Amino acid sequence: MSFQIAIDGPAGAGKSTIARKVAKEKGFIYVDTGAMYRAMAYYLLCQGVSPNDDEEIGRKCSAADITICYEKGEQIVLLNGKNVNDVIRTEEVSRMASMSSKHPQVRKRLTQLQKELARTSDVVMDGRDIGTCVLPDADVKVYLTASVEVRAKRRYDELTAKHVVCDLGQIAEDIAQRDEQDMTRDIAPLKQAKDAVLVDSSHMTIDEVAKKILDLCEAL
Ligand code: C5P
Repeated sequence: MSFQIAIDGPAGAGKSTIARKVAKEKGFIYVDTGAMYRAMAYYLLCQGVSPNDDEEIGRKCSAADITICYEKGEQIVLLNGKNVNDVIRTEEVSRMASMSSKHPQVRKRLTQLQKELARTSDVVMDGRDIGTCVLPDADVKVYLTASVEVRAKRRYDELTAKHVVCDLGQIAEDIAQRDEQDMTRDIAPLKQAKDAVLVDSSHMTIDEVAKKILDLCEAL
């Protein structure tokens, strides 16, 4: 049986940084499921599909073949065989991902792939529905969150460090809107699994959060 660590939480809570660190520490693979939803969103945008056109999303999503591979321990997302890591982090893709991930066909395809990855490898997997839907029997489940203000400021700092001009208020608004969409959708909404440990990272360092998760693994 593989060992499974599930980390769920809202946008900007630090899931990917923490998950990557814990995976490295444990020698597990890190599966960033958000990147898969982003790759699908990128595909739909390239096809000119509107985020509000549910029918068209359903029709077009089946032509997107999304897989992942690893290069020097980093996840590479392949969309129809092409590495899309560098083009899926824009705000436009974030918004489209939040809309298209509501779609049952999109979720079905990606959930299957995620389950298969975790069946064959020890994983740290992060997302919105990992502890609740993808890996309901995960060994360790964490719900990682932080206040909207803290999450927006982290994103703002990340973007300004890359010399991207941005507005803190707008980022906070986008984050709050994505939270609302992710938490209220009909299928696999973002919520804390009953058996997940709640970790609020608002006033914690990356190392402190990672240690907390590693301690949970040790305590088993
Ligand atoms: O985690 P990240 O911000 O990259 O995810 C992008 C979007 O993909 C989320 O806002 C959410 O709508 C969707 N997502 C999801 N289920 C997951 C991971 C991401 O619906 N397991």
